[in-house]
Order: sequence, then C-alpha cells, then structure tokens
Amino acid sequence: MWSGPLGVGLTLEDDRQALFILRHHRRFPSTSHALVEQIGKRILILTSAAREPMDDRLVFFHAREDSSFSPMTTTPAFANLTLVRHPLVQHKITLLRDRRTPTKIFKELVDEIAMLMAYEATSELSLDPVTVQTPLEQATGFQVSGKKLTLVPILRAGLGMVEGILRLVPSARVGHIGLYRDHDTLEPVDYYFKVPSDAAERDFFLLDPMLATGGSAVSAVSSLKRAGGVRIRFLCLVAAPEGVRRLGKAHPDVPVYAADLDRELNSQGYILPGLGDAGDRLFGTR
Ligand code: URA
Repeated sequence: MWSGPLGVGLTLEDDRQALFILRHHRRFPSTSHALVEQIGKRILILTSAAREPMDDRLVFFHAREDSSFSPMTTTPAFANLTLVRHPLVQHKITLLRDRRTPTKIFKELVDEIAMLMAYEATSELSLDPVTVQTPLEQATGFQVSGKKLTLVPILRAGLGMVEGILRLVPSARVGHIGLYRDHDTLEPVDYYFKVPSDAAERDFFLLDPMLATGGSAVSAVSSLKRAGGVRIRFLCLVAAPEGVRRLGKAHPDVPVYAADLDRELNSQGYILPGLGDAGDRLFGTR
C-alpha cells in the first residue's frame, strides 16, 4: 500500500491509494491541492461508472472538498449512513482492529467509542425549555423532551456498547433483542425480545458493533417496529457496504451511525478488513 509523502504532481496508481491518502491524512498540506483535485476528478468519473463495492467509499470521500474531516460525515452513496469521524473515534477504532489488542482493552475501547458515537447520534434529540433556580437567580435552560431514550443491544456483542452510552445518558432504558447468525445460512435466528411497552413514544438506539450482511439489523428493526417503535437509529462501530445497503432498502427511515465503513464481506459474512468476531473479542470466547 502507498505510504509516501503527499505533494503536487503525485500520480495515484489506483483508487485504493487515493482512499489510503484520504483516510490517513485528516489535513492535507497546503501544497496538495492538485492531489485533491485529482482525487475529485477520479471520484466524479466513478460516480458515472458501474459501481463496485469499493466505489461507495470513494463517493463518500468526494463529499469532503475542503481540507479536513468533520466529526460527522453523511455519505451521498448511502443516504441512511452517517460516519462519526471524530479523531478520537478513528484512533480507537484502529486499536480495536489490531489483533494484538487484549480482551480487557477491546472492551474498554468498544465502551468509549460507543459513548463518543452516542454523543453525535443524540445531537438531534428534541429539547423542551425549562427554568431552574441558580444560587443567584432564575435561569432558562433545556431538558431532553419526551420519554427516556431506550438502548436496545442486539445480543450478545451489542451489550458491549451499552455501558458507555449509559454514562452519557444515565436515565436511558435498556431493552434486549436476542439474535444470532446461523453460520450456514448467515440468516438471523430470534431467541429473545424485550423492550418497554410504550415503544411508540420512545427514541430507540439499536446497538450492534458490526453491521455485516444486515440480516440481523433488518430483523431487529422489524421486531422493534412490530412492538410499536417508530423513531429508531442503528449504531454500529464498523459497517460493510452490503449491510448499510440492505438495511437502507428494508428500513429507509432508520438512520445508521458507524465509526467506519469497510470494504466488503468475505464468504463467511465477516467484514474486511473488520476486526474479527466482535462478540468473541469482547467476551474472550475465541
Ligand atoms: N460479526 C462480527 O462479529 N464480525 C464480523 O466481521 C461480521 C459479523
């Protein structure tokens, strides 16, 4: 993979190289406009060509014409996807991917990334004005309106994301959806479902670190909707284009938040480059 210095007149050998540069340099040096332009042209050509899985990620980067990534980036290739690209999230996701990261650290990282993602994913919660009495006088402020936010981890790996989000929103309720992926068919099998009964009045964050084939995600959202849920967001750490596409097709009303959008799935349904089996790495059952 390309790892040389950036500069004017650099010729990119392939799209992976362009992608690598974009992913590893939050700020382009001021001399790199030609390079950015070149990447822009390349991406424009790709958008009018037949789309391969890899193209989706390139189209995403076309959205960034200035010289830095914002913490949150929407992706034109996937109307339903928001990538949380905060520098701390990118740093921690990289540690998470590292096969040498031990279970204890892996768990802490999932927890921290989930919290950082929830900070972004809660940015559109509606507020009601309230007044409070300070030690000196009355002040106007805000409180999150409506019923308590409900976190719904998809068992078992989704459990790893709960505590971090609860630290940010301690009053959140926690439901559970038990699904596992049949290793042969790769389709989800239900075994548990429990959420608050007044589902229609709540905001839900459905949690699963990996959005792979999208089978479990589609099935979990369908179950939540059958229980009355209407305002549902899906939070994952790493997403595959296949999963984002499938979830968007089945449930276009459900925004997806991810820390990273990876290249593709392998024949066993694992995300590449991914981070392996999130459940096994979280709970040390490898
Ligand atoms: N589930 C995982 O834990 N990892 C993958 O790569 C895909 C699904």
